[in-house]
Amino acid sequence: MQGLMQDAPLTLSSLLDHAARFHGDREIVSKSAEATLRTNYRDVNGRARQLAGALRRLEVKTGDCVASLAMNTSRHIELYYGVTGAGAVLNTVNPKLFPEQIKFIVSHAENTYVFFDPAFGPLLEALALELTGVRGYVCLADAAGTPAFNLPNLTNYEDLIGSEDVASPWTEVAESAGAILCYTSGTTGDPKGVLYSHRSLVLHAFTVLSADGMALSTRDGVLLVTPLFHVNAWGIPFAAAMCGARLILPGAALDGESIFNLMRAERCTFSLGVPTVWLGFLDFIAAHRERLDLSGLALERVLVGGSAAPRSLIERFDYMLGVYVIHAWGMTETSPLATIGTPLPEHAQLDAQSRYDIQMLQGRAIYGVDLRIVDGEGTVLAHDGIAAGDLQVRGPWVVQRYFKAPAPACDADGWFPTGDVAKIHPNGYLQLTDRSKDIIKSGGEWISSVDLENAAIAHPDVREAAVIGVPHPKWQERPILLVVAAPAATPQRDDILAFLAARVARWQVPDDVIVVPALPHTATGKLLKSALRETYRDHLSKDDGES
Ligand code: AMP
Repeated sequence: MQGLMQDAPLTLSSLLDHAARFHGDREIVSKSAEATLRTNYRDVNGRARQLAGALRRLEVKTGDCVASLAMNTSRHIELYYGVTGAGAVLNTVNPKLFPEQIKFIVSHAENTYVFFDPAFGPLLEALALELTGVRGYVCLADAAGTPAFNLPNLTNYEDLIGSEDVASPWTEVAESAGAILCYTSGTTGDPKGVLYSHRSLVLHAFTVLSADGMALSTRDGVLLVTPLFHVNAWGIPFAAAMCGARLILPGAALDGESIFNLMRAERCTFSLGVPTVWLGFLDFIAAHRERLDLSGLALERVLVGGSAAPRSLIERFDYMLGVYVIHAWGMTETSPLATIGTPLPEHAQLDAQSRYDIQMLQGRAIYGVDLRIVDGEGTVLAHDGIAAGDLQVRGPWVVQRYFKAPAPACDADGWFPTGDVAKIHPNGYLQLTDRSKDIIKSGGEWISSVDLENAAIAHPDVREAAVIGVPHPKWQERPILLVVAAPAATPQRDDILAFLAARVARWQVPDDVIVVPALPHTATGKLLKSALRETYRDHLSKDDGES
């Protein structure tokens, strides 16, 4: 027997319409080097509708792709809703990728138009000749703010939308239609496209709002540090519209001082981003503590994901600012939220150090995401906190097939192999122990680079750590440790090795410690271990095998 309830489609435009009607005055604040622009959900709704009208005028059809190369601004939010509200697909391109990768993505998605921040004009000028499928370029500025870039059919955003009606209709689409296309930031091979549907994004937004999700509410002011080109800024633009949260968009300035100033000025209660951003933020506060008015901060909680949150980060947020770090795990292929570390009732009694131990884990599965670990033969492993295996996930916002791929990305039962290696504890907490390609195999024994990095980062002289396996004449592979010094510290090799020897098994202690000024990161803030492996591949090859 069929249920007898209405079958209203779960589309993105319904989110913005709700925000405009019931939270119309709630602000969306964009910060740029020149100015602070204040708008609200009502006006963004009108401008997104104007954009939808303009795209139809340009003969962008349902299902066509439109690219954005832009930082976090209200115009980029308008693209989120205006492009998808015209029935088209917004392909959010990461402008920090190598130009070759950008060229690949824009061509692979067959983008019809490219919308870009003025700062990325020169980058596009260098690629435009080869982007033969692109019909025109739209600079996200007004006429005065648009330089005369050498780009075919160049127009500016304000002129493009200005003549359209703020009440232009949305194009009707099925909830299963593609809405946003985001390419993985893979460090090897061509990037792969993940095409989110309206439905998957709306379902994911409900999860973001849930109390044991990010507990986002109308009372929050969210500082959106996570870029809009990184997995839909982890779903915040949709969840914020769903509940009418204030959105504060930092533009391109993501250094510690800029984030601190904006967070304080706008009284943000919640923020989210990758660990590297937060390390810069905390270092800035630590270095200028005497002159900063910390009482002006309204920040209550910070969500950290994209890479493992180091213990020092969790600790410093707690004792310096009284801010709770929520550690979450996900990936482009999971929209991204899959597991999240909100505490269980039994954690209320824990002392701070024991609570940090829990916060370092990657959290528990949220409803909608099923997960399991398997061994090399595909046998499902126990959730005993001991067995480590390949992590697989499935659910309504997990990828089924990559964009234009001939075969599914998951098996017949929907299990998607994440490429992460993990343990699952009896209480459901996920603990990532490695990326499968980063794990180190020494003399037949597995060594977790993550465990060693966590141990190294606990040393007071270490700000950031990376452990990689490099070829070794006797043990096939041995770990070496690269560290970045903490402010004003001078890490010593032997001291760090002794520190590690007291914390990990003897055969896991790295063969060398190298102090480096900085570690390479991908465009989304992950350690670029492939580059480090390349640089240090001969580091131990002349070793006589004494380790
Ligand atoms: P991306 O698709 O760029 O979001 O990258 C997803 C990958 O980032 C995951 O497969 C993990 O390897 C890594 N990652 C994401 N969140 C975490 C986390 N909390 N701890 C450790 N690694 C993470």
